[in-house]
Amino acid sequence: MPISDKLLSMLVCPTCRKSLAYDIDKTFLICDNCRVKYDVIDDIPVLLADDARKLDD
Ligand SMILES: [Zn+2]
Repeated sequence: MPISDKLLSMLVCPTCRKSLAYDIDKTFLICDNCRVKYDVIDDIPVLLADDARKLDD
């Protein structure tokens, strides 16, 4: 089950504390501010700054 909109609205980027958005396939959460993405594993977002990956990769 995907993360609900309500939960998603409470999630913030661990680096900049801004809100996150799903990518189109709902496999990542994206921070537009930092230009990074976070994995979503088994519907649990991995919001660790160390695990952030650059969007441009
Ligand atoms: Zn950020």
